[in-house]
Amino acid sequence: MNIAFIGLGNMGAPMAANLARAGHAVTGFDTHARPDGLTMADSAAAAVADADVVITMLPNGAILRSVAADIHAAMRTGAVHLDCSTVDVEAARAVAEAAHAAGLTAIDAPVSGGIGGATNGTLTFMAGGPVAAFETCRPLFEVMGQKVVHCGDAGNGQAAKICNNMILGVTMIATCEAFNLADRLGLDRQAMFDVVSTSSGSSWSMNAYCPAPGVGPTSPADNGYKPGFAADLMLKDLTLAQQAAKAADADTPLGEAARALYDQFVNREDGAGRDFSAMLPRFSERSRRG
Ligand code: NAD
Repeated sequence: MNIAFIGLGNMGAPMAANLARAGHAVTGFDTHARPDGLTMADSAAAAVADADVVITMLPNGAILRSVAADIHAAMRTGAVHLDCSTVDVEAARAVAEAAHAAGLTAIDAPVSGGIGGATNGTLTFMAGGPVAAFETCRPLFEVMGQKVVHCGDAGNGQAAKICNNMILGVTMIATCEAFNLADRLGLDRQAMFDVVSTSSGSSWSMNAYCPAPGVGPTSPADNGYKPGFAADLMLKDLTLAQQAAKAADADTPLGEAARALYDQFVNREDGAGRDFSAMLPRFSERSRRG
């Protein structure tokens, strides 16, 4: 397929490289990044002119809206705009409407799996939008990832992503709190892991991404809490979840508490640039009074 790829940062560059390696003709555009080995265009509009599918992997919804406004008029009628960024549900739905008005179709398909998943082609995609366009994109999902779920209409991919990450943020905090309590009660971390990972307190945060160094499978905790999945990105996703919860009048008290705690960690403590599981040393350093 002819593919245009806009936004070649930490995630976009390895995703585009995997598509090119699989034999697709990929033309890239980024306002700053110039990854090696990829054909680059001088503008977003030039990148998309011949594309069957245009993939965007951008920082936020405002940038997505502005890039969509630039590229939709330049795309071939019937082409698909596949957005893989994590953005607000409203932006995803607005971009889908704009695409429709321009004779195009849009799929929102945010990812989980992080930079490792992007590099290794093992991302999970959660997609919203028309089935026919989803099927057009399926071979690309299969190159860039190992699992894709069609979640329904436009915006539902983003909805699934923020619901998943709200659970993840809350369970990571709960897991870290519990490890810290266990430490203070004299319970060995390995014993704590052995019990919880096979009991009703188990979760992905405990079992697959254990925040305690030297315990469980290798995780960012074993690498000085270098991300991985940065606390800053968890804060972004928890903020998007609260934005959506307000718009939908959904009561999400633990989601809001998790957002507030990651906000404090990233913006007023030392969490910026650290993995989101660095909540554990944060708790270890503090008492109940702060
Ligand atoms: P990044 O900041 O590394 O990359 C974004 C790229 O977009 C940059 O290279 C930037 O120059 C480019 N860009 C910005 N404005 C542009 C414009 N107008 N036109 C063209 N290019 C433009 O971010 P990332 O880590 O690659 O994340 C991309 C998206 O994926 C985000 O929405 C993020 O939330 C999501 N995500 C990231 C991860 C992760 O672990 N990094 C995991 C899951 C989802």
